[in-house]
Amino acid sequence: MTETIRFFLPGPSYVTEDVRQAMTQPMQGHRSAPFKALYTSLAGRLQKVLRTSGDVMIATGSSTLVMESAVLSTVQSDVLNLTNGAFSERWHSISRSLGKSADKVAAPWGQAIDPDLVRTALSRKRYEAVTLVHNETSTGVMSPLAEIAKVVREESDAILIVDTVSSLGGAPGESEAWGIDIVLAGTQKALALPPGLAVFTLSERAALRAAKVPHRGFYTDLLRYRDKHREGGFITTPAIPLLYALDRQLDVIVAEGMEERWARHARCAEKTAAWAAQHGCEYASASDARSLTVSCLQAPAGVDPQAIVKGLAGRGYTIGGGYGDWKPTTFRIGHMGDIQLDDLNAM
Ligand code: PLP
Repeated sequence: MTETIRFFLPGPSYVTEDVRQAMTQPMQGHRSAPFKALYTSLAGRLQKVLRTSGDVMIATGSSTLVMESAVLSTVQSDVLNLTNGAFSERWHSISRSLGKSADKVAAPWGQAIDPDLVRTALSRKRYEAVTLVHNETSTGVMSPLAEIAKVVREESDAILIVDTVSSLGGAPGESEAWGIDIVLAGTQKALALPPGLAVFTLSERAALRAAKVPHRGFYTDLLRYRDKHREGGFITTPAIPLLYALDRQLDVIVAEGMEERWARHARCAEKTAAWAAQHGCEYASASDARSLTVSCLQAPAGVDPQAIVKGLAGRGYTIGGGYGDWKPTTFRIGHMGDIQLDDLNAM
């Protein structure tokens, strides 16, 4: 990659010129043989990214569509939402808005989800599903996904549904080896693609569970996506230009390799920590739970975080402000996607 990046939002992230150009290719029929070949090739490469030999589906919509679809498709009544920030709270809002009986294990913002608290909650009541955000983009916190998945498996028969929106492609995550039933992510974060697509897995266990859930909707029925996927295509007309972008970018991601991509994100997180120390900014997130893809920082005493965002904008850099309840007190640097160390070095 030779492009210099000065765009450090925690999503959407920078999209290279080559990937943007890929979207200008002509349309083709989404039930045609060439399109089916494209689809099959995308789905195969996505298995490498999501680390599974199982089905990986693509939805035309943002991540929230698949969050809502996952609850609607697999839960009849009882769901446990693990919350520690704005996006994990969204799982709770979705669950309640769908009329589910939703309980919470709530960690303070800035902290990771504690697997022991999950164990306790699961020992008290049977839940059909547990929801988690792997990487809380609002606070820059990464929860211990492998440990939580192990606890959910040991303590219950609940489906584990994980939002990896801002970690997929930027931090270690093993859909199959860690036994996660539904892993979902939008493409606009560490995969460095435009917004508008979401990718997801659906384990056999989750599919069997979904088959027993009535009224899963049409556009929201993950089983329908899975069945159409097995025929080699989409449930409806997909966003074809975005798939061209995905096609181009998957080549870049697969060539880099997942382990190297994760390692590059870890180096960029370290570089950002050095920048924060140099500028007198403390992390708002707990030191043992820091995200590899987004740093959530406090401004030095007496400095408005927005002034830092504006100051960097004046020098040509885009970073993020705070999010949700932490909007007034924090700012965020996204170091995800195709960003290289040299890009951050120059900031
Ligand atoms: N989950 C996380 C962790 C996010 O960071 C975001 C968006 O920033 C979402 C969910 C919602 O994603 P979308 O806007 O693609 O629906």
